Amino acid sequence: MMCAAYAKGRVLIVDHARAPGEKIRISGGGRCNFTNLHSGPHAFLSQNPHFAKSALARYTQWDFIDLVDRHGIAWHEKTLGQLFCDGSAKEIIAMLRRLMQENGVNVNLQTTARDFAKTPEGFDFTLDQGGHTQKVQTKTLVLATGGKSIPKMGATGLAYDIAAQFGLTVTETRPALVPFTFPEGRFAPLAGVAAPACVTAGAQSFDEAVLFTHRGLSGPAVLQASSYWREGDPITLNLCPEGGLLPALQKKRGIAGGRKLTNELAQFLPARLVEHLSGVMALSGNLADQSDAALTSMVQSLQNWTLTPAGTEGYRTAEVTLGGIDTGALSAKTMEVASVPGLFFIGEAVDVTGWLGGYNFQWAWSSGMAAARALA
Ligand SMILES: Cc1cc2nc3c(=O)[nH]c(=O)nc-3n(C[C@H](O)[C@H](O)[C@H](O)COP(=O)(O)OP(=O)(O)OC[C@H]3O[C@@H](n4cnc5c(N)ncnc54)[C@H](O)[C@@H]3O)c2cc1C
Repeated sequence: MMCAAYAKGRVLIVDHARAPGEKIRISGGGRCNFTNLHSGPHAFLSQNPHFAKSALARYTQWDFIDLVDRHGIAWHEKTLGQLFCDGSAKEIIAMLRRLMQENGVNVNLQTTARDFAKTPEGFDFTLDQGGHTQKVQTKTLVLATGGKSIPKMGATGLAYDIAAQFGLTVTETRPALVPFTFPEGRFAPLAGVAAPACVTAGAQSFDEAVLFTHRGLSGPAVLQASSYWREGDPITLNLCPEGGLLPALQKKRGIAGGRKLTNELAQFLPARLVEHLSGVMALSGNLADQSDAALTSMVQSLQNWTLTPAGTEGYRTAEVTLGGIDTGALSAKTMEVASVPGLFFIGEAVDVTGWLGGYNFQWAWSSGMAAARALA
């Protein structure tokens, strides 16, 4: 939609969904976390971490904020630079639809496209609207069909299939920004408990909330870490990311040594979590029973709770797809395929994946705009 809104010439959008921008509509709990104040290449994963720089710099978060402001959409920063609509995500969709209308874009919904072929003039393909088919010729073809996340919402691997058809490489794709699963019932007694934590997977750590669920672990810090996790790897939870627990316990031991250790810990962590941990880490006795060495060792355990997920919830709930069209084939400035002039890939289909927090939409806006400018 972003690309169509700004591309010059006659633009036809083909989408098999009933409505455009369905992921925008459901995003951010219906308020769309449409960008992040701190957007920059550091917040994106790709086999080529430099690829996203150009598009992100040429159409920035400030450009999108300016657009949103000009359309009178009120917004607020929730946390960590994440910007949400005050009202509804539908305002972002309405803005994009208005821009497309102003640009004379022809939007074909509940329509599929197939049988793509290269011609000397560009490309041709077949449009299918409920069995009514039509051949279409075009000079340029922009693939903005997203990744594999949430097939129920219409996600398909069309962009990857077309990339393969034109001899491009698709890097390994994986569900990302996705909850972890653990063996049946492991955290069931803790379902609904949330706590601040620093979660580490691979070499990356995220300091936000963790949520225990019937099936495993979720919450922003866990979703973020999932993008850096591989099957069989452990993750580490630091349940006292702020520090300060050890001196606080030592001080309390001096003035109220008769207090139960678990009761005291429940001042710092949710009580149900402390109860669970008391089984896992053998927390028992009164504060006065704890030597400095015992308290130090317990705090170290809380700061280094290592768990190995059984897996993830997969594409069924993943917010994004990690990996995609290998950026080596694309111009970083325009998103055009160097070996197939006129063919463009933008958005989540490309091997550029943002952190949680509005970065993925910013990539959609920036890469869409990069292609639009090339079509001017
Ligand atoms: C639940 C959820 C919440 C999210 N929240 C946020 C958030 O708050 N902030 C953020 O930055 N990111 C968020 N994301 C990620 C963000 O939605 C995506 O990264 C972004 O929408 C990608 O844009 P895109 O245009 O590349 O692809 P999409 O938005 O996925 O659009 C692809 C379009 O192509 C159509 N399509 C697919 N296959 C075909 C086909 N074969 N034929 C015809 N049409 C096809 C689809 O119907 C769809 O309309 C969220 C994702 C999910 C699932």
